[in-house]
Amino acid sequence: MSTADDLLDVVVVGAGFAGLYALHKFREQGLSVRVFEAAPDVGGTWYFNRYPGARCDVESVDYSYSFSDELQQEWTWSEKYAAQSEILDYLNWVADKLDLRRGITFNTRVAAGVLDETTLRWSVTTEDGQSVTARFVVMATGALSAAITPAFDGLATFGGEIFHTAHWPHQGVDFTGKRVAVIGTGSSGIQSIPIFAEQAEHLYVFQRTPNYSIPAGNTALTAEQVAEVKATYSERRRISMRSGGGSPYVGTTKLTFAVSPEERHDAFEKRWQLGGVLYSKTFPDQLTNADANDEARQFWEQKIRAVIDDPQVADLLIPDDHPIGSKRICTDSNYFQTFNRPNVTLISVRRTPIASVDETGINTSTAHVDLDAIVFATGFDALTGSLGKIDIVGRGGERLRDDWAEGPRSYLGLANDGFPNLFVITGPGAPAVLANMVLHAESHVDWIADAIGYLDDRGYAGIEATPDAVENWLAELNRRAATTLFPRANSWYLGANVPGKPRVFMLFIGGFGVYNDICAEVAAAGYQGFDLIKGP
Ligand code: FAD
Ligand code: NAP
Repeated sequence: MSTADDLLDVVVVGAGFAGLYALHKFREQGLSVRVFEAAPDVGGTWYFNRYPGARCDVESVDYSYSFSDELQQEWTWSEKYAAQSEILDYLNWVADKLDLRRGITFNTRVAAGVLDETTLRWSVTTEDGQSVTARFVVMATGALSAAITPAFDGLATFGGEIFHTAHWPHQGVDFTGKRVAVIGTGSSGIQSIPIFAEQAEHLYVFQRTPNYSIPAGNTALTAEQVAEVKATYSERRRISMRSGGGSPYVGTTKLTFAVSPEERHDAFEKRWQLGGVLYSKTFPDQLTNADANDEARQFWEQKIRAVIDDPQVADLLIPDDHPIGSKRICTDSNYFQTFNRPNVTLISVRRTPIASVDETGINTSTAHVDLDAIVFATGFDALTGSLGKIDIVGRGGERLRDDWAEGPRSYLGLANDGFPNLFVITGPGAPAVLANMVLHAESHVDWIADAIGYLDDRGYAGIEATPDAVENWLAELNRRAATTLFPRANSWYLGANVPGKPRVFMLFIGGFGVYNDICAEVAAAGYQGFDLIKGP
């Protein structure tokens, strides 16, 4: 524990799900903590992504903190998949209940973190010139928090309104009577397009890669359902922590072709009815065996074709360039049906690329589209984007962004050689976005808190991943990814959505439960793969 008044034990960057829990956990452990948050308030993802239709795609009862039974018993979710406003209300409630706000400096963006090698202390500076020193730095900066807007020629000349789903105006937007373009058909586009279509005079959807989406089947939760979950929460959480993706649903253990066509059909149907992203794990070989994947894809295709009136529009909407699940499956409410509306036009930018934007609209290679508003649903510089904006300087003046120039390096996704006492939550090298990120943030924060406790109990000043451990972990990530179909998609998991970003599969694909076991074994073995460093 720190004793000098001006020395903090921990600086946490970010006050989303991860940073809020980190503040609480470290504080409970008796550590001095300061959180810096660029936004004016708590919430992270759920503070910024206020576009109509924004909701979680992991069930609300699971996409919520598990560390306190009091919290999970007191809070009652109203829907299977909570809307953004409800999730933000929840995070505000938690922040108030745990008295977290006094530990957070809002409206303050961290610009740099520089290691003093002799003391193993980090000097953290903010864009407005504040500076603090801490023994540990925890980056809770978010895997999906650096939004990207493509630099289309002439964009600045557009005379109408421009929005990004990840920076949606707090006062809301009314598209009634407007001609609106949405660029992007990932999860954000797919959630918002049906609602924009209801408002706009005409909606133009600019699609680059067609996407797989599955109906959410969102409903209000009944009092009985809520009571059932609350009565069985500890078991639900236990199974989730052991599962592949952090949810309590366990798929069949049988392989796709080990069952009869009828059984296979029934299994797909059952998962379909569960709704959303869980469909990608109906059979355990679905993301490793191309033929097995195609069975799942065909089932999906016949369901989707059945709800689209125009077969030519269906041809455009059905993906043919990547296996189902190799990008995150989207979770929708009437997305494909939206293209049956007379006021919705689908434009494939594969066929007719966006050439430029001018004062009145978008020019494709073949036509001009008159517009009042353009919505970018173009996603994020995922996993590394927010970290890359911070000037992180470790041993020998080495910058993290240079160290990661060929792709992110880490041991367990948590730490890196050359950057002692610096931890990253749900970043590259971990399952991160492949798991329920609330539980994942909890498991990371718990691991880091235990590590700090271990060091403090034994009089160590620092912990640093060894170069061998980092190299072995990268080899492990690559080895596991190579056995899957994931590298076949141009996804943001590989950085493929950001021009110039190295194409590297950035995630641990072995499953959340397996990953938690590995992290626990490393800790139990006295932090194997880390150098524990005595003080100066
Ligand atoms: P964030 O919530 O992104 O918070 C990071 C915070 O760090 C931000 O507030 C940011 O302002 C701050 N920050 C960043 N850099 C700096 C800096 N330099 N200085 C100061 N502050 C900084 N995941 C799921 O598991 N299930 C879902 O259903 C799901 N739905 C999603 C829906 C949307 C629309 C999006 C975009 C993501 C979704 N995700 C989902 C992923 C989601 O990002 C995580 O679940 C989770 O909210 C991340 O929490 P976090 O605290 O790690 O990061
Ligand atoms: P995304 O999945 O990266 O989708 C971005 C979309 O924009 C893609 O269709 C992409 O096409 C397109 N695009 C990007 N640049 C373009 C360009 N220059 N021209 C034309 N199109 C372009 O981003 P997202 O939809 O914001 O979702 C990101 C992640 O956040 C999700 O995968 C999910 O993990 C999370 N999320 C979850 C939910 C939820 O349901 N709970 C909702 C929103 C977000 P390409 O595919 O060709 O790159």
